[in-house]
Amino acid sequence: MKLSFAAKQHYGVFGLGKSGLATVRALLAGGAEVSAWDDNPAHIAALQQALPHCQLMPADMWPWTKLAALVLSPGVPLTHPKPHPVVMLAKAQQIPIIGDLELLYRAMPKARYIAVTGTNGKSTTTSLIGHCLASVESSLEVGGNLGRPVLDFAPANAYVLEASSYQLELLATTRFNIALLLNFSPDHLDRHGDMAGYIAAKRNIFDRQQKTDVAILGVDDPASAALCRELIAAAQQRVIPISGNAPVKGGVFVQNAILHNRLGEVELTASLADIKSLQGAHNWQNAAAAYAAVFTYGMTHEAIIAAMRQFPGLAHRMQWLGERQGVQYVNDSKATNADAAEKALLTYDNIYWIIGGVQKEGGITPLARYFPKIRHAYLIGEAALAFADTLGSAVAHSHCGTLEQAFAAARNDAERDGVKGAVVLLSPACASFDQFRNFEERGDEFITLFRGM
Ligand code: ADP
Repeated sequence: MKLSFAAKQHYGVFGLGKSGLATVRALLAGGAEVSAWDDNPAHIAALQQALPHCQLMPADMWPWTKLAALVLSPGVPLTHPKPHPVVMLAKAQQIPIIGDLELLYRAMPKARYIAVTGTNGKSTTTSLIGHCLASVESSLEVGGNLGRPVLDFAPANAYVLEASSYQLELLATTRFNIALLLNFSPDHLDRHGDMAGYIAAKRNIFDRQQKTDVAILGVDDPASAALCRELIAAAQQRVIPISGNAPVKGGVFVQNAILHNRLGEVELTASLADIKSLQGAHNWQNAAAAYAAVFTYGMTHEAIIAAMRQFPGLAHRMQWLGERQGVQYVNDSKATNADAAEKALLTYDNIYWIIGGVQKEGGITPLARYFPKIRHAYLIGEAALAFADTLGSAVAHSHCGTLEQAFAAARNDAERDGVKGAVVLLSPACASFDQFRNFEERGDEFITLFRGM
């Protein structure tokens, strides 16, 4: 992206990770002057190497009176636990503080924008919307918090953006044509202080929307449902409620794997039951939200469902790899805690469960109610002994040490038992750092083992 509107203006960019680097590059390409800094010397060195023409100096030495704006990386605290010193400097000089999304919007004000936020399911919903729209919109970019930074995008007709609450706090004029808020759960409270602050940050996604714009809200938790009622009452934009488990009036919902579209006079329905990449009630919430977005964008019911059938799913999130000898294989390596693993345990029966790694507080104790669904557990990594203790006599288990051995044992047992609907599931409920660089590497190994069968 070339930010031509910024030509001859001077910007301060603080925070030089992936998105900060893309910001500096796009500003320089547009002819702006840039002063940049980061608290992390490695990030400064990386910028120096990539963009030697950028002026690097600590923020207290920037020419503050000349700055058009401070572009802040979403990782830098704006308010909580306390504002970063660079924020204080900008406030003292009354310099606007914005983020990379705002710059994209200023560069491409005529494009159509779809933005997704929520505590969970953002990446899945964003990719699902992008996947569906790709069948009707040839000039499209998908990313944001997920994948590529927005200022690495090319000029396009439409942008599908995953937006974290931190990014949403850094908007000024951006108006989303379609804005989605999936759910709230008391997560990430450290950066926002409390639930009220967290909700306030996320609801920024609906700011500046007008009558022709669309707000899509999940109503499956009390906080989102309350916000939905509030927006409907304010009638500033069109509001569409969605649910992953219960009927909603005038909205889109999925119940028992059947999607219902109640946006028009006639109800439209479709079964999602055999879409392997959208299993489980949490994915039904994502599917209902994505459906509402692309339907209001202009896609037909038939085209949306046809596209959803082809959705490959996201890697490492309950990723269905395939079926061999009557056994299904699912890579849920992203489940690094019990809460995330619960989604997979809820979704499947007859589970051959590979778990372990570096355990989080509470271990797998909160999952005890699903133990009857587990045929056998295969323990790996550091947490093995502790988990064996929790499983006790309730779940048959073996110590396997490595993922490779666990895979072989699970495959062996599942094929031998020949139970209908058997699933070999990697949903470790643990971080991976004892044996892998990250959850991606752990999931990739599982995929390689599957492909090598
Ligand atoms: P995010 O981008 O918000 O982190 P993802 O789409 O990457 O969300 O999904 C991450 C994990 O969150 C999934 O593996 C699943 O366990 C859980 N999840 C996904 N969608 C939802 C949802 N709608 N509600 C609750 N949990 C979800």
